[in-house]
Amino acid sequence: MKRKSFEQMLKETAKRRDDFTCQHCGFVGKNQFERNGVLVWVGAYGLVEADHIIPKRLGGETSLRNLQTLCKKCHKKKTKKDLKKIAEARKNGII
Ligand SMILES: [Zn+2]
Repeated sequence: MKRKSFEQMLKETAKRRDDFTCQHCGFVGKNQFERNGVLVWVGAYGLVEADHIIPKRLGGETSLRNLQTLCKKCHKKKTKKDLKKIAEARKNGII
């Protein structure tokens, strides 16, 4: 098994904290498995993703405070907005 990076681990933690629920639309991307009535695994198969609230390129840190859980759709929209902000910041010489 490949070792997870610190960032990946934080992202997993953020998704767990948000109970695998999209913080924009409320979509729940949780999968869980039971074996003999015992819950053995709860996680998400790429249904929800952890997003940097303030993008890294705009100085956002990789910390639980700056991570939120989004579904794929909302993440795509958010990324579009972020790219616009980044382009603007670049135009204005901020970054
Ligand atoms: Zn969503």
